[in-house]
This record gives sequence, structure tokens and C-alpha cells, in this order.
Amino acid sequence: MPRFRSLLLLFVCLWLPSSLLAEPAVWDKHSKRLELAQFVDYWQEDAQTSFQDVQALPDQAWAEVGDESASFGYGNDVYWFRFQVSNVTGNEAVNFMEIGYPVLDHIEVYLPGTAEALVLGDKQPFYDRPIHHRNFVVPMLLPPGATISVYLRVDTTSSMQVPLTLWDRDAFYAADQGRSMLEGLYYGVVLVMILYNLFVFMAVGERSFLYYVGYITTMPLFLASLHGVGFQYLWPEGTWWNDQSIIVFLNLVIVFGGAFSIRFISVTPETHPWLNRWTMAMIMVAGLMAAAGLFVPYKHMILPTILVAAVGCSTMLVLSVVRWVKKDPAARYYTVAWVFMLSGGIVLALNKFTFLPRNLLTENATQVGSALGVILLSLALADRLNREKKRSFAAQQRLLREERKARLAQEKSLRVQQEANTMLEQRVQERTRDLESLNEQLLELNAKDPLTGLKNRGHFDKAFQAGVVHAYRFEEVMSLLVLDIDHFKKFNDTYGHLVGDDCLKMVAQCIQRHVTRPQDLAARYGGEEFVVLLPDTPIDGAVRVAERIRAEIEKTAFRVSGEMLHLTISIGVCSVSPARADATKEIFACADEALYEAKGQGRNRVVANQAKAQTTSTAPSA
Ligand code: GH3
Ligand code: MG
Ligand code: MG
Repeated sequence: MPRFRSLLLLFVCLWLPSSLLAEPAVWDKHSKRLELAQFVDYWQEDAQTSFQDVQALPDQAWAEVGDESASFGYGNDVYWFRFQVSNVTGNEAVNFMEIGYPVLDHIEVYLPGTAEALVLGDKQPFYDRPIHHRNFVVPMLLPPGATISVYLRVDTTSSMQVPLTLWDRDAFYAADQGRSMLEGLYYGVVLVMILYNLFVFMAVGERSFLYYVGYITTMPLFLASLHGVGFQYLWPEGTWWNDQSIIVFLNLVIVFGGAFSIRFISVTPETHPWLNRWTMAMIMVAGLMAAAGLFVPYKHMILPTILVAAVGCSTMLVLSVVRWVKKDPAARYYTVAWVFMLSGGIVLALNKFTFLPRNLLTENATQVGSALGVILLSLALADRLNREKKRSFAAQQRLLREERKARLAQEKSLRVQQEANTMLEQRVQERTRDLESLNEQLLELNAKDPLTGLKNRGHFDKAFQAGVVHAYRFEEVMSLLVLDIDHFKKFNDTYGHLVGDDCLKMVAQCIQRHVTRPQDLAARYGGEEFVVLLPDTPIDGAVRVAERIRAEIEKTAFRVSGEMLHLTISIGVCSVSPARADATKEIFACADEALYEAKGQGRNRVVANQAKAQTTSTAPSA
């Protein structure tokens, strides 16, 4: 029957001037929850009007809200709403009226039987509410069979949205349990993620984790403000802050989201200069707006904030797609996370437009999407960290390999250099040895008389000088023999110079045979004259040596072209202990004098002389 009555009422209404007005809502015994939108009329207040005047308004002044709950956007207008509800249960109905938009500033609710309006809104402290709930909830008693009228006056700087739901009280609490559980789940997940990422940031110091923590902290704070949870639990007395917090947190979401995005998916000034600059500008604007949100009233800030948020979200989507196209592996996760978060919003919108059934999941789609997105991004961050660790490990390995290669090359070049050095040193040594031996040979050659093989006069002069210095220094007696072949001119003239040369050689060998001590020296002085230097040898020793030489030459027969020839030699001996270091001339003259004496005495003899300065003794001829 109630259905028939409704049809009749509808038919009648078609003919009445008030036919555009909403019907009364019907609350029957099956009713648990009733969306009131289609039963609500509204009137836009033109000037301050009292409740009595509003009640007296003609029906034509009112207009139907329609199937969707009242939503008039942002503006300075004040709206009145009214609806009627008939209780056809036959019993008293204990109901709750819920206004499901917790950021409305001022709401006056006029219930029948009460003289005063019930004042609600987030400009009232939270605990003044009749029911402590994040939405505005008004208890209503419907007497059996009665039809009551309810009026609301709404004045707000936020968007004018007034979703009205009539609940059976018990059904309201039952449904609220589910909603609270899901909400708790969302905030729990986010809190864990915040702490986890904060710890990771503290452990590895990677800044994207910090931005991410900022993002997933401000995002739920924004939602908490929007859904009245912040007002209920965090700032129940903060009636001013409750509006401003939306501005501050939403702008901070863009600041941290933007900073995180460009770092996470590498939108650097090098890779994407324009996108990077654009995003940085957006972050800066959002930052300034967040700061302004602390001072400038909500009504001036909300529209620019929504604009920045819309531009910010679109920018981040564009960034993710661009980076995906550029094959950044991080962008894949990032885009999917964004899709999750956006699809939460899309599901909510579809639900609001009744394309999707109204249930716990669809009503909390934003939180579900955001929680999934948060988890996914967190995984993506961990993945990125892992990949970077691997990459830096590989780079380190490569560096190590290259370093080892460089070291080997260095060692090799050092070895080659060392080998070259050694070789060079060897060559230098060899060359030095060669030169030394050549030098020795040259010295030898220089010191030698080519005909006889004895030392020459040059060598003798030096040795004689050194010998005199030595003898003077150690006060030794030294002896000098000067030897001259007798009548050699005649010999030459008779047998020729070549024979003479041969004889000179044989005489030289004979002299050399009797000069035996290592420090003794026999030399050819020139022509057919020889000298013998006998260091540390007194006169008797020197005479003995001279005598031996003379005797041997005398008895030696020189074979010349089959003929046996004989030669004799005269020897002058001088023995002296030098009084001066430069006494060579005197000593030589002394020996030469003795030689002259030997020649004078008839040749083939030894005459010994001691230097004038010393005691002189002339030995008799042998
Ligand atoms: P004495 O000494 O007994 O007075 O008579 P001597 O004939 O030996 O006189 P002197 O010392 O003046 O002569 C030296 C001669 O020795 C001159 C030269 O014919 C000969 N003589 C000098 N040097 C060489 C030489 O290198 N080879 C040859 N074959 N004869 C030389
Ligand atoms: Mg001579
Ligand atoms: Mg002679």
C-alpha cells in the first residue's frame, strides 16, 4: 500500500504548483540507511533570514537538490536545506542524521519540537558535538506515524557539499565499526611505512627516502584533515587550524611529492632541463602556499591550492610517463603506484555517481589506493637502493680490475726500464773496461821502446823522479846504472844498422834478465845507451848487478850472418841517499860521470860513483 500511496502522491504533485518539490522520505521497518539527497529541497539565502521567515517561504522559493547530494562548490552564499521524513514503522524510530562532509564551517539544524537550533560545524570545538564522530551526526527521534520537517542552514568557506544520510542508530554504529577498522588499517600501514622509510633514510642517507617520508606523512595528514579524523583526534579544539591544515598539508604533499619524484625517477637538469625546471617551480610555489596557509584565511587559499594540486598531480603523471618511455626501471613502479592512487579517486567518483555499489571498499577507495601506492613506492625505493648498490659494486669491481691492470703495466714498464738500466750499466762497464784496457795498452805503448821492448826514456824519467822522491822521503839509498855499448858506431859501420838493431835487442834482453826485483826498472835511454834504476839498493848491490850484466854481455856471442861477434859494455853506477826530492839531474850526472870514467879507463868495465853530496867510493873494475 505505501507504494500505491506514493504513486498517487506523485500523480497529484504533477498538478500542483509545488510539483517540483521533493517528496517526504519514508522510513519503514526495513530501513537501516537512507540517502536523503532526493528528498531534499534547498533555498539560497539572499539576506540574513530567521528560521521563522524561512518556514514561511512559499514553496516556489525552494528547489529540489536531485539524486546527487547537494554540492554547490565554492562561494560566499548561504544555503538552507529542508526535508521531510515519515515514520511508517508503527514504532518510535531512533535515528541518526549524518552530514558526511566534516569541513563545513557553520551548520544550524532545526528539528521539530526544539526552539533553539543545534549548532554544528568545524568552527565549534569538537567535543560540543552531540555525537563524538568525525562527521556531523544528529540524533533524531521519529514518533510513530509522524512526518517531521528538518531544516538546515549551512554557511561555509569550504566547498558547499551537504551529503545527508539517515541511519538507524544501531546500523550506524555497526557500519561505523567497519569504517573505523579500515581507517585504522590505512593509518597503521602508513605509519609503519613512515617509520620504515625513516629508518632506511637514517641507515643509508639517501635523500629520496626523506622526501618520500615527507610525502607519506603529509598525504595522510591531508586526508585526516579532509575526513575530520584530524579534528577528532589531533586538534579537537583547533577550529581555525582545522581549515588551514588542509591548505598546508595539501601544498606540502605537492612539495614532497615533487621533490621525491624528480629524485626518484631521475628528472635531472641534465636529462630533462625543462621538466626539471617546471617541477622545481611548482615545488617552490607549493612551498610558498604552504607557508601562506599559516596566515592567509582558508577561503582565499583553497582555490589556488586546488589549482596547484591539480597541476602538481598532472605534472607527476607526465614525469612518470616520460621516464617510462625513456626506459627508467624506477618509473614503472612509480607509474603503477600513481595509477593505484588515482584509481582510488576514480573508484570513489564512480561510487559517488552510483556506477559502483556503495560498500566499505568503494567508500574507502582513496585510502586503499593510497595505502597500496605507498607500499609499492616503498618497495620501489628498496629496489632502487638495491640496484644502485649492485651498480656501485660493479663499478668498484671494474675500477679494481683497471687499477690492477694499470699496476701490472706500471710494474712491467718498471721492469723494462730496470732491464734497460742494467743493460746500459753493463755496456758502460764493458766500455769502461775496454777503454781502461785500451788506456793501459796505450800507456804501455807510450812507455815502451818499440825496438827493444824495454821501457822508454819518457817512462824512465817519471819513474826516476818518483824513485828519488821516495828515497828522499824514506832516506833510502838508491842506485842508478847508465850503460853504453862500446864502439858501437864502428860495429854499425861494419855490419850495418839492421844488424846493429838486432844486437841492441839482444843487449836489452841481457840487461832485463839481470834486473829481477819488482821495483827495479831497465829502460833504453836513447841510441845504444841504457839505464837501470835500483831503488833501495846500496852501492855494493848495484855494482854487483852491473858487473853481472857486463860479464854476461862480454861472454855472449852474437850470431850475425854465420859469424859469431862479441860486444862489450861500459857501466857507470851512482848510489846515493838523495838530499833533495828534485836531485834527478845531479844523480844522473853522477852516474854519467862514472860511465865516462869507465870509458876513459879502457871500456868494458863498471865504475861506481857516490853522489858529490855523499861519501864517494869508486869500485875497481871487474
Ligand atoms: P864509445 O861509446 O865506445 O866511445 O864508442 P861509440 O862508437 O859507441 O861512440 P858513440 O856512443 O858516439 O856512438 C854511438 C853510435 O851508436 C852511433 C850509432 O852508429 C850507433 N847507434 C846509436 N843508436 C843506434 C840504433 O838505434 N841502432 C844502431 N844500429 N846503431 C845505433
Ligand atoms: Mg853512446
Ligand atoms: Mg857507445
